[in-house]
Amino acid sequence: MELLTYKTPDEAAAKAFDIIKEGIENGNIHTLGLATGGTPLPFYKIFRDSQVDVSNVSTVNLDEYVGLKDEDENSYHYYMNKELFSHLNFKQSFLPNGMADVLEAECLHYESILQKHPVDVQILGIGSNGHIGFNEPGTPFDSLTHVVELTESTREANKRFFDNEEDVPTHAISMGIQSILAAKKIILLAFGDNKADAVKHMLEGKVDESCPASILQKHPNVVVLADTKAASMLKEGIVRDK
Ligand code: PGA
Repeated sequence: MELLTYKTPDEAAAKAFDIIKEGIENGNIHTLGLATGGTPLPFYKIFRDSQVDVSNVSTVNLDEYVGLKDEDENSYHYYMNKELFSHLNFKQSFLPNGMADVLEAECLHYESILQKHPVDVQILGIGSNGHIGFNEPGTPFDSLTHVVELTESTREANKRFFDNEEDVPTHAISMGIQSILAAKKIILLAFGDNKADAVKHMLEGKVDESCPASILQKHPNVVVLADTKAASMLKEGIVRDK
């Protein structure tokens, strides 16, 4: 895994955008994997303000809450439209349907979308508990798209986006860890002190299911773009300031 650290999230986001822009302009990115949450916001700001032509690029998102309509402002459909899709001309965009009548069937359907649209580059965040997507600690590394029950720590972390804590959904549909690992390249963004422990385990710890992100050590093409706070617990010498 390659690690690059930056003083600010904006600088890291600019690097992520440079990689994506080059891939799109060279015709190497047909499908882009996208993430939600606070972390990718500076990346989306740069992306939507760019003049990049994405008319040949499809997108797939990692996850969606169960039970929120697309127009609910806390849904990831709403988030993606607001931050990116309404600004750029992507060919097509896919997110799991958290309103599906039969969630297990939706998971299979989403997995078939991923088979048809293999991800060239996946943008990832990391939870403070090491989760990737909504794959919480203990999720099998060979998991495919599945329904997850959110942990208290994840609901707690995400309640800032909701009016009331009890409005935070209890379940989500998430690409599995194996589905995420199928991406040819992964760009993981990590910002802030509260990610430092997880970043340390991911990069320096044992590969085990207690830290889902640790499996990225086994992926051949991962770049971690961190700010100095998220990288603050790493052994000296590993951190490269850019
Ligand atoms: P955050 O979430 O970007 O809102 O911190 C990241 C994640 O949980 O993957």
